[in-house]
Amino acid sequence: MTQSLRPFLRLSRLAPLMLLIGCGSASQSQAAKGGAAEDALTTVAMARDRHAGVGTELADADAGADEAGVDEAVARPDPALTEDARHYPVDYRVRFLPDEGAAAVTIALGRGSGHLSRLDFHMPASRYRAIEGDGKVERNGDRLVWAPPRNGGELRYRYRIDHERGSGGYDARITDDWALLRGDDLVPSARTRGTRDTYAQATLHFDDLPEGWSAETPWKPAHGGGDAVVNPDTRFDRPTGWILAGRLGVRRESVEGMAVSVAAPIDHAARRLDVLGATNALGIELQRVFGRLPPKLLIVLAPDPMWRGGLSAPRSLYLHEHRPLISENGSSTLVHELVHVVSGIRGVKGEDWIAEGIAEYYSIELMSRIGLLSEDRRQRALEWMKNHGRRVKTLVADSSSGKRTARAVTLLAALDREIRESGDEDASLDDVVRQLASSGGKASLAELRELTADLIGKPSTVLQQAVVE
Ligand SMILES: [Zn+2]
Repeated sequence: MTQSLRPFLRLSRLAPLMLLIGCGSASQSQAAKGGAAEDALTTVAMARDRHAGVGTELADADAGADEAGVDEAVARPDPALTEDARHYPVDYRVRFLPDEGAAAVTIALGRGSGHLSRLDFHMPASRYRAIEGDGKVERNGDRLVWAPPRNGGELRYRYRIDHERGSGGYDARITDDWALLRGDDLVPSARTRGTRDTYAQATLHFDDLPEGWSAETPWKPAHGGGDAVVNPDTRFDRPTGWILAGRLGVRRESVEGMAVSVAAPIDHAARRLDVLGATNALGIELQRVFGRLPPKLLIVLAPDPMWRGGLSAPRSLYLHEHRPLISENGSSTLVHELVHVVSGIRGVKGEDWIAEGIAEYYSIELMSRIGLLSEDRRQRALEWMKNHGRRVKTLVADSSSGKRTARAVTLLAALDREIRESGDEDASLDDVVRQLASSGGKASLAELRELTADLIGKPSTVLQQAVVE
């Protein structure tokens, strides 16, 4: 696209969003009155933000080959499609049981050119019960080992859905009207053994949904029914990401080729079109910075008693329906989570500040680029971050939130300035994060230093500060 067309396109994209925001004057003035409360809420939300959400507790213990990161949309050859690859069909069948607060799950392995001989799941008895299956099923502490018959077979269990975060608010919940949960937990990660070069042809089905219910997932429909679950990174493809089922209102749109669905239970105050409008306007900027968009993005909004923040997952994100598009400090939970999903960037151990800092920095930056934050407001947002993180002595930590992330934003803003002042007028932090995103998403300080040095022709001074060590 030529440069001269961009401002026009930008405006035409924003027009519906501006109208929507203009219409919501009542809620706007309420938000304005609640400024201080909103600030507090933002801080709380930042402090609790974790991009892996509820899944971490159950899945992180197994964060090995089968743990799908948020990077699965990377355009790389799918090993399952190579000539030598063997396949086995696997159907995930899910039935929601609101009366029991659970989902009944069946994992049905079929007969294919390859097979799995052993699946070793992380399935603590507190969440997974009534487990039975064909072949051999054995519990060993929190592990559940299933050796299916060679021709395939079924593993059946009940998964208890409700999960309250330590700090209050649910991150998985089933009611009589809806269910919101992570597919990563519904089907926990497993260490697998099987024939060499074997890959799943996985499909997710919802059986006997209660009357009036439908289900939304981050996956596209499969030929022959259900949703096709495809993850090139693993041979036991699980339906990772957010799943929302119930009496739903859903708005859909294609944003730069990405199929976006914004779903929320009906009869609640969710502002689906605000979220869709913002995502629409942000699409081209997200693509420009991170170089790619996933084929599908599911955004789920839900009311109390869900946790009042945002949580990202593969190809999907959750946002409490009361989260504002832009917080009073100038950051945006929606954009923060969008950056996690689209970039797939996650810090290596001890360097979570890189992923969290990038998500928070670009939540301000991208809202400014689409014209929803004035330059003055953008500067104030960066000032807020500077002040909020001023006492942070080190960015090094396994998990970054609140003040540490604010400190990371200040560092990244300085890094962006250093790159822009380095001589090449077109270079910016965008070039560094795009490379981080395209190289699989795992980000370390060493990599950040190397990419920056390559770009500006000398080691970055900003990245020598004591706070990063
Ligand atoms: Zn985050």
